[in-house]
Amino acid sequence: MEQISARLLALSPSATLAMSQKSQELKAQGLDIINLSVGEPDFNTPDHIKEAAKNAVDGNFSFYTAVPGYLSLREAISKKLKVENGVDFAPTQIVVGNGAKQEICNVILAIVDKGDEVIIPTPAWVSYFEMVKLAEGVNVPFLCGQDQDFKITAEQLESLITDKTKVVLLCSPSNPTGAIYSKEELAAIAKVLAKYPRIIVIADEIYEHISYCGQLTSIASFPELKDRVVIINGVSKAYAMTGWRIGFCAAPAYIAKAVTKLQGQYTSGCSSIAQKAAEAAYTGSQECVEVMRQAFERRRDLIFDLVQQIPGFRLDKKPQGAFYVFPDVTALFGKKTSDGKVISNADELAMYLLETGHVAGVTGAAFGAPDCIRFSYATSEEKIVEAMRRVKAAVEELS
Ligand code: PMP
Ligand code: GLU
Repeated sequence: MEQISARLLALSPSATLAMSQKSQELKAQGLDIINLSVGEPDFNTPDHIKEAAKNAVDGNFSFYTAVPGYLSLREAISKKLKVENGVDFAPTQIVVGNGAKQEICNVILAIVDKGDEVIIPTPAWVSYFEMVKLAEGVNVPFLCGQDQDFKITAEQLESLITDKTKVVLLCSPSNPTGAIYSKEELAAIAKVLAKYPRIIVIADEIYEHISYCGQLTSIASFPELKDRVVIINGVSKAYAMTGWRIGFCAAPAYIAKAVTKLQGQYTSGCSSIAQKAAEAAYTGSQECVEVMRQAFERRRDLIFDLVQQIPGFRLDKKPQGAFYVFPDVTALFGKKTSDGKVISNADELAMYLLETGHVAGVTGAAFGAPDCIRFSYATSEEKIVEAMRRVKAAVEELS
């Protein structure tokens, strides 16, 4: 008899990771699959960062670290936040963990009680909803369409606030849409939230450096939200370090303390070697970040043009950041495959494109936007061109 808790039974698996896993399996069977499902830079980690990790091994950085991470790493992050984002978080307000993913989950578990509402402008990253469920909170998604550049307005946000609202979760640049909130848009949101002092903002800034419109504004920089914003960031995307698993939260001191307590009971500090590598990422030359950003920008321009040529795909504007395109594909719903199967939603379209076109994307439904499909363009220009050629051919076969 299988004995799984109700809590886990209610949890959905990660659609991004599941799709990636499926494409690995098909590849292992010998199929030539182009995997645009997972959001992961294809670059190798820069050499100076790898060197720091090797030095850490040789230097015997092999013992348990402090639960929130080495002080030297937290000092480097504190400085980064000051210099790049203009926000003040002391090292004691920073907790480093096993990726931004763990830190988002930790923060949610630390502050959300049963029945507390978490407002999530959607389309939004797949894992937020499941983390809120784990905390027994209530997801309050609000779908922001292409007509509003996939972003929530201050008025819409205010209309969702109730006595139970505990958290507003903002992600900019956004996964999956690439939307970026401007300083003015954030100012309007901050003005609304200033009226509700009990609400905490979780600002996921993991794609901060993958911006095609300059340096971002952090919502934590607005004085009216002082001590109410938790910044999430990490090295996965900016420094091509997804597998090293280092992310952080920078939070009001009492939240950082609670997160440290939680982390101290179930994972302890994260890998000492990876922490030393992350320290080198934050303190070393930032040139590598810009080189990768420019490559992502070229790929963004390329894939945007190719998407325009696919019948039934609608993507009105170039994404401003991150490395995803998220076209609306509703025009294809109801069409038939050559063997007579009807494509009735984005899940079925994603499966069809994988099985027929051998290109893996992720259904928009997993991001709370069932009209769309997501492709990551964190891959070579050659693969982008070939993938979009295959997608176009597969779509053109539908009738
Ligand atoms: N936030 C967003 C919006 C993401 O897309 C991801 C996926 N990498 C994460 C957080 C987690 O990143 P990591 O755990 O690799 O730091
Ligand atoms: N965040 C990336 C994505 O959306 C990586 C996979 C994951 O953790 O969801 O594809």
